[in-house]
Amino acid sequence: MSGTAIIGAQWGDEGKGKITHLLAEQSDLVVRYSGGPNAGHTVIHGGTVFKLHQIPSGVLFPTVRCVMGNGMVIDPAEMIREMTMLEEANVSLDNLRLAGNAHLILPYHRALDRGQEASRGDLAIGTTGRGIGPCYTDKVARRGVRAQDLLLPDSALADRVQPALDAANALLEHRMDAEPVALSTVMEQVRHWRERIGPHIGDGFTPLHEALESGASVLFEGAQGTLLDIDHGTYPYVTSSNPITGGVLTGSGVGPSAIDRVIGVAKAFQTRVGSGPMPTELDGEAAVRLRGTGEQQWDEFGTTTGRPRRVGWLDLVALRYSRRVNGLTELALTKLDILSGLDGIPVCTAYEIEGERTTDYPAQMGNLAAARPLFESLPSWSEEIMGIQRFDGLPRAAQDYVTFIEAFVGVPVTIISNGPAPEHTLYR
Ligand code: IMP
Repeated sequence: MSGTAIIGAQWGDEGKGKITHLLAEQSDLVVRYSGGPNAGHTVIHGGTVFKLHQIPSGVLFPTVRCVMGNGMVIDPAEMIREMTMLEEANVSLDNLRLAGNAHLILPYHRALDRGQEASRGDLAIGTTGRGIGPCYTDKVARRGVRAQDLLLPDSALADRVQPALDAANALLEHRMDAEPVALSTVMEQVRHWRERIGPHIGDGFTPLHEALESGASVLFEGAQGTLLDIDHGTYPYVTSSNPITGGVLTGSGVGPSAIDRVIGVAKAFQTRVGSGPMPTELDGEAAVRLRGTGEQQWDEFGTTTGRPRRVGWLDLVALRYSRRVNGLTELALTKLDILSGLDGIPVCTAYEIEGERTTDYPAQMGNLAAARPLFESLPSWSEEIMGIQRFDGLPRAAQDYVTFIEAFVGVPVTIISNGPAPEHTLYR
């Protein structure tokens, strides 16, 4: 068995797309295990920028098989858009498999997502509006429509859609003052999806296990991040799935022995989109310095929504929590180059909550909201470091920043990304 999991160690947007793409090249099979079109993985491949939302980035390599796992929620219309974009770039989709038991985001899920957010008022989660929560709700309520249902004859499929549609329309019409969705509208779209996506729908489980059993190299591609996890994140300001290592098991159908490396991807600072507590958050000039202005494609603006991300200093208390939740064996640290030229670099090594100092991440979300970050200021460096490929080629202060993180979190940093392109990567 040789499985490597790539896990977002913060609030998503850690640069998992780049790390997955780098490791996918040496893999035989890549499986994505959670989330859906709320994700946005930016990858530079052969000099071209690809923004992938649902299809694993392994698809860019012709010999790598890709599975969209059962833990995902798939928006078929978005998937078709992504497939078309890839085909136009001459990327073959022959090796792409969509697990039949992955759930489908249907048109009413987006409408419900919008309606629910509007009804939350000041307590809005700031979802991506992609219908993620309502689709997972239908899954858990046992009335979801799955990818394999698309292959049923129309009448049988309509029978699957009807109960979820009835539940959705009751909310849309009577609670959200929105237009109900007609079964005929859904069925019309479904016929188009069936034709385009149908050939890719099948068993995602057997090829995955055959790969593992033959000793092939399998990559489990994460989406979102640990602090957005429905169970272990900053509930209720979370997504509706398990982006953590536990989600790899349920979202693709493997046991823990299938995974021997768990790489947590963390930015050298902190970002978040949407609402919810973020103890080290910055505003004003300092925030703009870390976020960028949006002119560069790697500036801190959402790949899926275009929203400016909230930014802050690296929160090591949260990162160590993430190591514990996921059983991380190593870290990939991204965007280290963005910290060049600062005047000292604060990192959060403890919180003060109601007058008490703690280095443990609080179990209660309310306590996190009340946490005052306690910082240590680490020495900075002035040199540009983009593209340096040897650790001892980094300025001393940059090396010390990395070793400080390793000592605090308790795992080695084995990959450092210091620029957007694949060659801007340092392996240790
Ligand atoms: P949802 O997943 O669209 O329901 O959004 C729930 C929360 O997760 C919101 O705060 C989103 O901004 C956040 N979120 C969802 N997907 C991502 C992602 O890929 N990166 C960063 N934040 C995300």
